[in-house]
Amino acid sequence: MDPRLIDLLAQWRAAGGIEDAPRQFPDHADHLLVIEVDGAGNRYTHYGQAFVEHFGADLAGCVIDRLPAEVLPADRRGMLDFDYAFVRRGNQPLWRSYTAVFDDGDAAETWQRLVLPAGEGRLVVGAYPVAPPAPDEEPGAALLRMVLDRVPVLLDESGGIGDLALSLRAYCDHQQHLAELEWRATRDSLTGIANRAHFHHLAGLELGHTQRMGRWFTVMVLDLDHFKRINDRWGHATGDRALQAFVGACRQALREGDILGRVGGEEFAIALPGTNEVAARVIAERLRAQVEQVTLEADDGSLGGFTVSIGVAAWCEAMAGGEGAPSVAELLKLADAALYRAKAAGRNRVEVAAWADRPRAEE
Ligand code: GH3
Ligand code: MG
Ligand code: MG
Repeated sequence: MDPRLIDLLAQWRAAGGIEDAPRQFPDHADHLLVIEVDGAGNRYTHYGQAFVEHFGADLAGCVIDRLPAEVLPADRRGMLDFDYAFVRRGNQPLWRSYTAVFDDGDAAETWQRLVLPAGEGRLVVGAYPVAPPAPDEEPGAALLRMVLDRVPVLLDESGGIGDLALSLRAYCDHQQHLAELEWRATRDSLTGIANRAHFHHLAGLELGHTQRMGRWFTVMVLDLDHFKRINDRWGHATGDRALQAFVGACRQALREGDILGRVGGEEFAIALPGTNEVAARVIAERLRAQVEQVTLEADDGSLGGFTVSIGVAAWCEAMAGGEGAPSVAELLKLADAALYRAKAAGRNRVEVAAWADRPRAEE
């Protein structure tokens, strides 16, 4: 444990209780968080100056559970929740070392935290950044650090490692639970592909990247034709199987790196980073033809099929005359206009939007 935290632990033990942590432990005040629980959740009532400087914002008064995902992603939020609940329940201090990678660079930082119970659900957290592990660290030390990085530690009377706060088995279950939550929040349950929000998120990241590389970025909007009739004729369960079969056909036609999402009931979107308009038309046409070949078996044994209409919109900075990149939503809107034309022209077709048709700000 970092000597500063050993000192804080010793002061906490000597004090025999915490009334006003920043005043009681002035040497540590800049590195302390005080957390109260109220009806709305965990709230910071003291947010040390070291964190204000580090995160560029003073979160005193903020409800921790409501912090945006950029500040506290799901896995770290889950880790904190676990630590806080554990200390409240067990009423004993908990120490954790963890390595965090911050978004504004690839710098990984290792921190150590001490969570102290302060009565009535109140918690005092001391946290200090520590030196990163040496690159030539011994394998045994690296393994121990990896475990400590993931599993919080209960301290014994002398401040040494007493026990792990959860068994490795429980830790794995906890991680799996977090992964399942993440999966449910980002996936469509019927087909397993990205849901609408996650599609926009992933496609937005890729669009930014392709723009920096000066490459093409293409989106497709795909809408199954007369899908209502499929449900009406063969039942909803067969309709569901058609949606799954459609996703299977898409997966076959796409490359790794392409992003597929379900953006509506029987509407899908695909983002193809690095694919130009000509190639996208070929891919869309191949996909359309492949969907035509899918055979569905209804519950009564009868066989049927379905078709898809596809609208395509492609963009690259050079083609657009150096204009700033459109947003994913703007590109999808352009592709939607092409899709509308494909439907109007008889369905089971691919239409490519002309960049000149894009909606302009002055319109
Ligand atoms: P169009 O060719 O103009 O797109 O006709 P359509 O019938 O496909 O379009 P419409 O928007 O009228 O109907 C879409 C249908 O898709 C209605 C809805 O019941 C069905 N649908 C949406 N989500 C699901 C789903 O999860 N499962 C099933 N089985 N059907 C769904
Ligand atoms: Mg539709
Ligand atoms: Mg449809």
